[in-house]
Amino acid sequence: MRLVLVGPPGAGKGTQAQLIASHLLVPKISTGDIFRKNVAEGTPLGREAKRYMDAGDLVPDEVTIGMVRDRLAAEDVRDGFLLDGFPRTVPQAEALDALLAEMGTSLSVVLELVVDDDEVVRRLSGRRTCSDCGHIWHVTYDPPTLDGVCDLCGGKLFQREDDREETIRHRLEVYYDQTAPLIDYYAARGILEGIDAMGPVEEVTARAVAALRHWR
Ligand code: ADP
Ligand code: AMP
Repeated sequence: MRLVLVGPPGAGKGTQAQLIASHLLVPKISTGDIFRKNVAEGTPLGREAKRYMDAGDLVPDEVTIGMVRDRLAAEDVRDGFLLDGFPRTVPQAEALDALLAEMGTSLSVVLELVVDDDEVVRRLSGRRTCSDCGHIWHVTYDPPTLDGVCDLCGGKLFQREDDREETIRHRLEVYYDQTAPLIDYYAARGILEGIDAMGPVEEVTARAVAALRHWR
């Protein structure tokens, strides 16, 4: 299955991507994670991406598309993949369609996670991420046992630079302006499936898995 997750920042894409990818036995590709890894390692790509990320803006399409093209050339995505956070603009969606067509394939489905803006702000302002294994926690919705320490691997948790209140509001504007048009783009192609992403993580996963059954 070749699947894209779309939704505003904080909708739970990263959280669900991990769970759905394990369920479908496909690799998860998160452009945000790849950028953050490059920032942490201080690569030229990371240095270029950082200024956009910290401001809550999108990294330019040509940079992002090139990075995804390289990733989709790898052997492990031949039988399917789950994209989290890409595409985020119509030109990125068009580039993905062209790339998949070159590979003789196409997307199976685009799953939209629908949440309201107030919930997005609550989720993002309490998000904490493990610096070692990347697991996503939340200070009230899904707190680790020990403050600031990952239950899964003992790694140190950090708050993302772009999860500050002012940046969150700006990222939502960027989402409505540049990413939300993808909903119509994929609806017109007949591959959009929307689910209610409010409520506990397990309930959202169950809704996602049920919705995806029709597309396998
Ligand atoms: P995205 O990848 O869409 O930006 P994340 O998966 O990182 O979103 O989730 C944002 C925050 O919300 C995280 O702290 C996560 O633990 C929390 N979260 C995710 N899904 C839910 C949910 N269904 N209910 C409550 N909190 C959630
Ligand atoms: P995310 O982890 O998906 O919330 O992404 C964090 C940040 O990485 C975004 O705010 C952007 O700056 C950048 N980013 C991730 N994916 C993309 C993309 N597809 N296009 C442009 N920028 C992206």
